[in-house]
Amino acid sequence: MSPLPDPSAQDAIVHPGHLERLRAELLSGVDLLLERLGSATSPASGADADELAARIGAVDLDRPASGMPEALGELGELWLRDAVWFHEPGYAAHLNCPVVSPAVVAELLVAAVNPSIDTVDQSMGATFIEQRLVAWTAQRLGFPAERADGVFTPGGTASNLHALHLARDEARECTGAPLERLRILTSVDAHMSVDRAARLLGLPADAVLAVPVDARRRLDPVALSRSLEAVREAGLTAMAIVATAGTTDHGAIDPLPEIAGLAAAHGVWLHVDAAYGGGLLLSTRHRERLAGIEQADSATVDFHKTFFQPVACSAVVVRDRRTLRHVAWHADYLNPADAGGAAVRPADQVEKSLQTTRRFDPLKLWLSLRVLGPDVLGSYVDAIVDLARAAHQRLEEEPHLTVRSAPELTTLLLRYEHEAMSPEEGDALVPRIRAALAAEGEALVAATRVEGRRWLKLTLLNPLATVDDVLAIAHRIVEAGHELAATEVSA
Ligand SMILES: *Cc1c(COP(=O)(O)O)cnc(C)c1O
Repeated sequence: MSPLPDPSAQDAIVHPGHLERLRAELLSGVDLLLERLGSATSPASGADADELAARIGAVDLDRPASGMPEALGELGELWLRDAVWFHEPGYAAHLNCPVVSPAVVAELLVAAVNPSIDTVDQSMGATFIEQRLVAWTAQRLGFPAERADGVFTPGGTASNLHALHLARDEARECTGAPLERLRILTSVDAHMSVDRAARLLGLPADAVLAVPVDARRRLDPVALSRSLEAVREAGLTAMAIVATAGTTDHGAIDPLPEIAGLAAAHGVWLHVDAAYGGGLLLSTRHRERLAGIEQADSATVDFHKTFFQPVACSAVVVRDRRTLRHVAWHADYLNPADAGGAAVRPADQVEKSLQTTRRFDPLKLWLSLRVLGPDVLGSYVDAIVDLARAAHQRLEEEPHLTVRSAPELTTLLLRYEHEAMSPEEGDALVPRIRAALAAEGEALVAATRVEGRRWLKLTLLNPLATVDDVLAIAHRIVEAGHELAATEVSA
């Protein structure tokens, strides 16, 4: 007899005796999902965020709903009605991708079985699936198979922190340099997580040196070479060079072979942040654009961006597994260093990770590869690269739009402009156009700054979207620009 008095409390534990309840609840969840997915006709509802926050704030979490049907009905109103849908071609804001269905099935299995992939004794095959996928990714990167290793992380931010942690400790071991003398060299367009990692790793506020970029926004190797010299002359230690393969705003891929040559010549750790551009590893047509990545000491790949996987799914991969010793810890209750008396202790992933309990996120990539294969995912990458190029050509012909240079990957930067407008007026319109679009929900775009000017940003990650879909977003931008510019004049 279970000490639980209420049978409905017992049933809620996932258990072979409670399969009926689990099946009924799963099916009602699936019904809600399919119904909402099926009825979504725009990427967003245009709901007012404050009003939505107030309605969610009013839910009394200490008084449950009458059961799953009521709770799901409530959720449909509080969340799914106003959810943002990344499969909608009008969604072109951030680096969010539509997801493949095998990955969704994997998510369900992971949640119900609930392994933690920190130690083999909690996960068995799950650990080996992760290790196999890391080896596969390393092979795609061109890292030496017998030495490469790595671990899944919750995202590119965590992967970059992890890689720089290893780089820091390698540099300190080799040079004995104190933290305040360590420097990281990266381009001005590197992801902000590089700065964040530097601070978390105890480096001084000025530790990240922003190297200039060329006209295509790629790190300039000549400037990098000068910075490396300057660091040395100042008696400082270059701890790492971070090259980006696909910058967040421009999709620029830094010149990896030249950078790798400089890193080798100066004996500096090279990390390649391929959080965005990593999908090119799957492309038969564009893989060569990552040439040089095989010379990196570490690389970040975000499967939840250009591998069409649900959040969270990322990996940090290192060329030499021995460098992972810098994050290894042992605990008697988990992974004792002396194997606890057993002759052999299996390789536990916890020794490579900054996390302890860790979700079996690799499974979604595994099932996607086993059902679809890498070439299908690669064809999606080709499709979005082609889409961005074709859309760029058409946008250049559009009146009232200024479009920045041809896309390096899948982002497009544009501004609404007309003859009588100053650049400052154009800047002021960028956030207002973006907000006007968001308030309608038909098209969602992002915004950024380049050399002091504001730009609207389209990030194209939807292989189902067409050039006409992108043009529709552009036309909405022009319309909103006309309307806002007119109210400006009359005001
Ligand atoms: C998205 C991105 C990151 C951060 O990845 P998260 O998964 O959001 O943590 C890092 N670097 C680049 C270049 C990115 O585009």
